[in-house]
Amino acid sequence: MVSMSLDSYEDVVGQVVIAQLRKLAHQLAGARVVHVNSTREGGGVAEILSWLVPLMNDLGLDTSWEVIDGHAEYFHTTKSFHNGLQGSPAALTDRMIKVYEDTVSANAERLRPKLSEADFVIIHDPQPAFLIKCCPERKGRWVWRCHIDVSRPNHRIWRYLKDLVSLYDASIYSMPHFARRLDHPQLIIAPSIDPLSDKNCELPQGYIDATLDRFGIDRRLPLLTQISRFDRFKDPLGVIRAFDILSGSLDAQLVLAGGGADDDPEGQAVLNEVQETARGREDIFILDLPPDAHRTINALQRASTVVIQKSLQEGFGLTVTEAMWKSKPVIGGNVGGIRLQVHNHHTGFLVDTPEGAALRLRELLRQPGKAGRMGRTAREFVTVNFLLTRHLREYLTLMLGLRHGLESRLLAG
Ligand code: UDP
Repeated sequence: MVSMSLDSYEDVVGQVVIAQLRKLAHQLAGARVVHVNSTREGGGVAEILSWLVPLMNDLGLDTSWEVIDGHAEYFHTTKSFHNGLQGSPAALTDRMIKVYEDTVSANAERLRPKLSEADFVIIHDPQPAFLIKCCPERKGRWVWRCHIDVSRPNHRIWRYLKDLVSLYDASIYSMPHFARRLDHPQLIIAPSIDPLSDKNCELPQGYIDATLDRFGIDRRLPLLTQISRFDRFKDPLGVIRAFDILSGSLDAQLVLAGGGADDDPEGQAVLNEVQETARGREDIFILDLPPDAHRTINALQRASTVVIQKSLQEGFGLTVTEAMWKSKPVIGGNVGGIRLQVHNHHTGFLVDTPEGAALRLRELLRQPGKAGRMGRTAREFVTVNFLLTRHLREYLTLMLGLRHGLESRLLAG
């Protein structure tokens, strides 16, 4: 894992913010923290953990990141949990429960000593949630960090998961709307981006141009981009439909770029559908990127006239934050965490249909002044709300709260 220092962020957020974080973290010096998720690459959770873990270490907490190992059947099962929790039809059979529990239990054999001794264990999403049942002798505080929209879940899947989540000392959601009825404190912490990572740092214009040339993208034409795993919730076909409606009247190009995540077994099937739909189109670029294509994604976002994130469900949508940080107006699906970021008519537009997306794309392509103003507002909004220093402060505050009996005080209140 890269070693990072919080001091590098001084130029972005100011010295006072860094000093405050160090002061807060001082009270947690040496605390053992373990994060667990189900993939080291691909998707927003891995993106966040790749900077959160080194920076917590830099702040003096003894922090590590563990990943659940599993076979295809386990990942099909957890993808079904994921789909069902976000409201899609999804099965939950006894066989699936057995595969899930057996896989997590096998991982627990390896992880138990570390988890049992940790002061804080942060379990990300449903994939590792069963670990808590495998560690009855736990010493520290356990928090379930939910990154997805569980506001309208499939009831059978939620009932099963709720029994596990209820064992945790607290749970975290990205927005208030996602919290559930549970007998423990539920906290709201929005995700954030690392402004200095390869994904978000400034890039020389030469690199951006070379990236477009590499894919045969015409630098003179407006570029519309959606970066996402190939996942039905991201609605790539809806994006192509919006582009089709638009392209009769305006010359532009569309890029749909993404790759897979180790814990997402459906990506290839969705990519095939998307490629099939775009076959023969010279103005649509479907880019299947490797997991480490961070600078390529950065360049594509920076080269874009407008960034699209037309999700049908979205826990948060880091791709929206990334685009806004690059001063791009975003046309986003009117769902979940996108609503926290895209403020209609200010930082972009919220849309419900491909037709709505096409209408707003046309508006922004025809009015570059408006697109520029929205992009600048978007950048300011991210600077205040969605950079990693705010995120770190909220984690530290939560840990201090838990150490001082946050649960009993909140529940007594
Ligand atoms: N991402 C990436 N490569 C890809 C597709 C996505 O690195 O091919 C990154 C993207 O830039 C963002 C994260 O993965 O940082 C996706 O997070 P988001 O919250 O948008 O969606 P999720 O995939 O977690 O549902």
